[in-house]
Amino acid sequence: MKKISIITLFPEFVQRYSEFGIIARAIQKRLVKFTAIDMRKFGLDKRKTVDDRPYGGGLGMVLRPDVVVKAIQKTSKVSSQASRRRDRGSSRIILLTPQGKPFNQAHAKRLTKYDNLIFVSGRYEGFDERVRKFVDEELSIGDYVLMGGELPALVISEAVLRLVPGVLGKDESADSESFSDNLLEYPQYTKPEVFEINSKKLRVPKVLLTGHHANVAKWRKEESEKRTKKRRPDLLA
Ligand code: SAM
Repeated sequence: MKKISIITLFPEFVQRYSEFGIIARAIQKRLVKFTAIDMRKFGLDKRKTVDDRPYGGGLGMVLRPDVVVKAIQKTSKVSSQASRRRDRGSSRIILLTPQGKPFNQAHAKRLTKYDNLIFVSGRYEGFDERVRKFVDEELSIGDYVLMGGELPALVISEAVLRLVPGVLGKDESADSESFSDNLLEYPQYTKPEVFEINSKKLRVPKVLLTGHHANVAKWRKEESEKRTKKRRPDLLA
């Protein structure tokens, strides 16, 4: 079973995600365990403070290292104890930050080999720098700044989980999808065969109607290469 733990100040938000669609089904089938860890529980004093003003001045608040590291240590202890009971513990602690390595499909594939993925999701101005010493890697979902790490944690979890055997149903497959061979996926068509709109007729390419599997495969491969060359030549390089 793949275990995803997300340390966050908004546990309800993250937990709700796991109640829908393919992820909910995977949890039901016991392929995935999904837990939101409330960072506030590790907060200090009566007010459960998790942040403070930055040393040196400046706007915003920074997440305290003592609070975040306590949350990480507690979560990784619970996860690895659970794994040891199953005799196969391997965990990865991932900090979400726009300063991390840009996440891609190769990262998703690599992360499938860990039993426990622990995501540390920030808010406000982000983390005290010393938190970085307590994580295995830092990932970003793109060159833009969001308000929190919850969406990045869910984006990465979803990309990883759909590669876990059994998570996608037999009619869904990740094999020929975009990025699987550093190529974008070929164009897809469904009914109607002729789509009439604004006095135009948009037709499905003839080869897809022939039932000739080899020709269809050849056409798809060519379209895939053509499309990648045009839209994402960087993938071919
Ligand atoms: N001050 C930080 C900086 O400039 O690097 C940005 C903090 S951001 C407002 C708050 C939190 O959102 C971050 O700690 C991180 O967890 C998350 N976050 C924002 N953008 C992200 C991105 N592109 N990828 C991953 N996490 C992101």
